[in-house]
Amino acid sequence: MPNNFPEPIENAIKEISKLPGIGKKSALRIVYFLLKEGSSAVESLEGALSTLKNNIEMCSKCRGYKEKTEECPVCSNPKRDKSILCVVESTQDMHLIDSSSGFRGNYFVLHGLISPVRGATPESLKIDDLKRRIEEDGIGEIIIATPYTAEGEATASYIISMIEGGSVKISRIGMGIPIGSELSYVDSETLSRALALRREIK
Ligand SMILES: [Zn+2]
Repeated sequence: MPNNFPEPIENAIKEISKLPGIGKKSALRIVYFLLKEGSSAVESLEGALSTLKNNIEMCSKCRGYKEKTEECPVCSNPKRDKSILCVVESTQDMHLIDSSSGFRGNYFVLHGLISPVRGATPESLKIDDLKRRIEEDGIGEIIIATPYTAEGEATASYIISMIEGGSVKISRIGMGIPIGSELSYVDSETLSRALALRREIK
């Protein structure tokens, strides 16, 4: 790729290629698309991004994302079983489980997994908030739905050691989730079965 772009183009490529799944080539394609489409395309993208920044916040209970002026659609839904909490790595996994498994409890999003290599610790992930949530909301059962990778297992072990000894039932999704796999690669039927056939740890 030539390295003689005008600086604004260079900067836009640099910023866009920071996005997940977008390399330099795709970033360049996006920049050229925006330049070709003109100001209306750039303005609508700007508008969407600034609304995202200004109007969305993290829900203090499930740690999923919600509109600032609205109640969290998950936590405020009276049809959900408030006594069961499913612990997931990401908001994507939360949506995946919710849309494909028929699970209708509540959630706690970790926003990452414990990983000494990447510097993600229980403190940086604020995993202790989970303990507070359990106490405050009188949670009776925790389903740990972190992936079956080294980091997912380390995180599950930490959570188990953090809450065992109390009266909370702890289970781990199992059956059919391949070792080393991310939940997003698992089909919805398998995921549904994995939740239904969760094994109790304590
Ligand atoms: Zn919520």
